[in-house]
Order: sequence, then C-alpha cells, then structure tokens
Amino acid sequence: MFLRALEDLRYLYQTEGDVVILTSSGTGGLEAAVSNLLSPGDRALVINAGKFGERWTKLCQAFGAQVDEILVERGLAVEIGQVQDALSKGPMPRAVFWQDSESSTGVRNPTRKIAALIKDFPDTCSVVDAITGLGVHEIETDQWGLDIVVGGSQKALGLTPGLGFVSISEKAWKQIGRSTNARFYFDLQREAKNQRQGQSAFTPGISIFFALREALEFVKSAGLETWLAHTHTMAEMTRAAVTALGLQLFAKSPGDALTAVRAPEGLDSGEIVKRFRDDFGIAIANGQDELKGKIFRIGHLGYIDFIDTIGTIAALEIILSRSTASLVSGIGVRAAEETYSHLQSKSGEGQ
Ligand SMILES: *Cc1c(COP(=O)(O)O)cnc(C)c1O
Repeated sequence: MFLRALEDLRYLYQTEGDVVILTSSGTGGLEAAVSNLLSPGDRALVINAGKFGERWTKLCQAFGAQVDEILVERGLAVEIGQVQDALSKGPMPRAVFWQDSESSTGVRNPTRKIAALIKDFPDTCSVVDAITGLGVHEIETDQWGLDIVVGGSQKALGLTPGLGFVSISEKAWKQIGRSTNARFYFDLQREAKNQRQGQSAFTPGISIFFALREALEFVKSAGLETWLAHTHTMAEMTRAAVTALGLQLFAKSPGDALTAVRAPEGLDSGEIVKRFRDDFGIAIANGQDELKGKIFRIGHLGYIDFIDTIGTIAALEIILSRSTASLVSGIGVRAAEETYSHLQSKSGEGQ
C-alpha cells in the first residue's frame, strides 16, 4: 500500500523522482525541507506574501539560516522582477522558499516563473510550500525544475490531517548530502531509503494511509486535469458571484484554493463567518492577524462541489441582505451559474 501511495503521489506531483510521506502535519514537511537542506549560517531567500510566508522565515531562522526576505504587500503575489532583484544582490542563497498558494490571502505566486530563475544555479534549490497548491493548481515538479515541493493530507485531498508529503530532486539530494543541520525524526535520507522499500523509518499514521489510497485513486480515475479544472470552476463561480454582489476580491492574483473577500464597509468579517456557521452550518474562515475582521475566506479545495459552492453563495446573499438591508437575492447565484455554464461549454465535459 505504501509503494502504491508513493506511485500515485508521483502522479499528483508530476515527478519521476522521490516523494516521501511523513506522519506529521504539513508544517513537518516544511521543517524537513529546511533542516535537511540548510546548514547553520547558510543564506536563504524567503518570499513572504502572508502568514505562511512568514512561517518559512521563522523556520529558517530556527535552524540558524541567514534570511533575506522579499516582503510582499498583503493581497499581492510576488512579482518576478522582485525575485530577480533579490537574487542579483550578493551571493546566491542556498535555497529560495515560497508558497504556491498563500492561504492567508488567497494569492497564487508565479511558481513556474520563479523556478525558472533558480533552475540553472547548481547550488540553489527551489522550495515550494504547495500545501494548498498541490491538487489545486498545475504543478509540474520535474518539468519546472522544482527541488522540494511540500504537500499535506488535509487540504485538496480532503483527508484528515496528519500526513505531510515532500518531493526531493537530484539537486536537492546533493545539497542534503552536504548539509550539517541537526535532524532526527525528519531525516529525509533515512525516510527515502526506507520508503523505497515500502516502509517508513518510524510508525506511520496507518489509518490516514488507507484514506490516502482512496483519495489518490479518486484523483487518478477522474484524471488530474479534470480534477484541477473542477476546482478552477468552483473558484471562478465564487469570484464571479462576489464581484456581482458588489464585494471586492482581496487577492490581486487569486489562486483557486480559496477566495478571500473584503468584508463590506461597516461589517466585521467575523460576524459573516459566525452567520455562515450558526445559520447555515457552513464553515468559512476569517482573516488572520491584521486581516482579522477585514476579510473572509471561502474554500474550493478538492472535495468542495457545485452544491457546496452554490449553497455558499446563496447563504452569502441572505447574510448580506440582512446586514446591509439591500436585497441582493439571486445576483450572485446567477453570476455563478453563468460562469459554470460558460466554463462547461468551453471544456465540453461534465464536472
Ligand atoms: C495549511 C497550510 C500549512 C500548514 O499546514 P499544517 O498541516 O497546519 O501544519 C502550511 N502552508 C500552507 C500554505 C497552508 O495552507
């Protein structure tokens, strides 16, 4: 079952290289990337476009790296020129860290283009937190030359939390062989050696492996492209609906994992989240830190379907109508349906 899961994960990752499965939350995978790749004193470049970008910085610092940060205004994706500028200053960093999908703002960073800047430098690795990118956006691990890509069980795959996934390129293996940081549980060399034989170094979270097998079977039978197109459709429907309702999208380059929306003037987004939960049994998320009360986030990950999406939009209309005393019934739902039909006629297949 282990070998089968690894094989199917390679399909999800679009890689022929190694992927290891860790029994940990996604952050365990992020920590494994940092502790295995870097040595104390190494330079690391972090693209910080939100709360999860910040986490890369904290992790790198915890393992003694010298961190340079590209601080990106919240709601924006990094621009490729910003990365070029940062790379042209001083010696090349050992690794560049970023989020494919920054879940705190809903932004999608240009993973393919960033990777292209790094690919030809033999001693610099590209490290992507794709915990909400994998299974949502196209990610071509091998073709784009991504050295480490981290995923997790509880996002697009819709499993319970508890597994982290880490892909490792040949370039990354070379760097891992030279790095001197302390590591024990998250020792990627030892894990890969065991996992190539269908074993893990320590006791795996077996119950989640059963679920993982089912989820990956599902993705395979649907086909990766169809699955990504489904999530894209849900995201497009939501973006069209909130825009038609006169609300503003928070992210300038929104990804398909979730849609972050600015709360209307005078209405705390926490109140919107509460109404969704109490009146409709729908779980959406508030903003975090400085965005708390200002934005709300609607998820589209893998298992979210047409009915979830239409229902969420209808509930939003009712919540808005009540709190702003303006009747908006049907405006968002209509925009979502039109978007759905438009995308269906383009792709020519059912969801
Ligand atoms: C959810 C998430 C994480 C953290 O994963 P945990 O499983 O909670 O450790 C990291 N990065 C991104 C982009 C996420 O969305």
